[in-house]
This record gives sequence, structure tokens and C-alpha cells, in this order.
Amino acid sequence: MNNAVEPAVRIHPAIDNGIKPTAEGFGGGTLACLCTSDTVTVALKGQTAHNHVCGCTQCWKPDGALFSQVAVISRDQVEVTANGDKLQVVNPDATIRRHACKVCGVHMFGRIENEKHAFYGLDFVHTERSRDAGWAAPTFAAFVSSIIESGADPENMGAVRARLLELGLAPYDVLSPPLMDAIAINAAKLSGKLNTWNAQQGQQAQQPQQAQQAPSI
Ligand SMILES: [Zn+2]
Ligand SMILES: [Zn+2]
Repeated sequence: MNNAVEPAVRIHPAIDNGIKPTAEGFGGGTLACLCTSDTVTVALKGQTAHNHVCGCTQCWKPDGALFSQVAVISRDQVEVTANGDKLQVVNPDATIRRHACKVCGVHMFGRIENEKHAFYGLDFVHTERSRDAGWAAPTFAAFVSSIIESGADPENMGAVRARLLELGLAPYDVLSPPLMDAIAINAAKLSGKLNTWNAQQGQQAQQPQQAQQAPSI
């Protein structure tokens, strides 16, 4: 077979020609920004979870991509290993404090500092910035309608959703049902609607170890 046929709809360069499979027992790797000198590097000391493509206007996207690709990992498994002085928070008021390289703009990790947030303890990372192979494959598409806010043609949304389904990435206009459930479980726990035992069961559902058991595409 010759080079892959150019897809009619480009979602993200890391997946347009097929999604790379998750490697069993993958132990992590290193993210690098785009700078060719004084590169910012971040070590991820484990596999990521809930990898997905995201259409929101906040996540970092490679040039020309309709979507970002973003996953989560426990914040204690994230360590800046070089040139951390080049990092700055994109928007200190945002829920996710995205630490970006000041020079090339790549978001190296996004961190939630609100301890009451459903995703507190998880950092958001773009594993495409790693040369290591075996990262958790994306399994869904979040905030699909939001690409219109970034300038995507509304007339093309049917084709975009069809392409996502073809790639095996179920398109959602918010987050996936398990993540929306996690947010609701956290809210119910804070309001006292859900007892502690149930809340703990729900929280376990968003641990990376659990998520790794999800089928890869
Ligand atoms: Zn950089
Ligand atoms: Zn996003």
C-alpha cells in the first residue's frame, strides 16, 4: 500500500492516519516542547488515562489541528526535568492552570489547584509531545461543537462527527459519560446527596489504573 490517503477531514496529526495502540504495561516517558534549544521537558512517570481529542478553545493544539489531544495523569507522576524557568501559566484564573512554554507556546501540563474539583489530583498532558511509543490511545472526542468557536465551518460538523466515529472516537459535546458522572458524583458528595461509601466507589472509576482497562482502539 502506498502512503495513506489524505483524510477528507483532519482531526489531529497524531491520529489522522490511524490511532496508535496503547502498549500493555507502558511505564511513561518524557514530553518535550517545540523549542530546538533550551527545550522544556517534563517526565511522566506512568501511563495516562482518559486520553481523548478535545474541541474546546483552551487546550493547546498543534498548528492547523481542529482538535487537541489531551489525557490525564496523577499530578505526583509529573515532574519538570529541564528548563522549567520557561514555563508560565496561560491563564491563572482558569480552573486548569496550563503551564506553557513562553517561547513556543506548547502547554506542558495543566494542573487543577481547587481541591474540591472533581479532577483535583490529575494533571492534563499532551502525550503527542513525547517520542516514546505506547501511550494510552484516545478513546473519545470531547467538546466537539466547540470547534466552531475556534473558526471551524458549522456546515462541516456532520463530516467531522462522521470522521470521529470512523476513528472510533465517540463524539460528545461535553465530556464522556464516565467523566460527566465523576463530576456529578463529586458535586453530590460535596452537597451530601451521596453517602461517602458510594462517593468513594465513584471516585475509583476515574483512577488511571481503572481507566487503563478500557478497550484501546
Ligand atoms: Zn518551547
Ligand atoms: Zn480542551
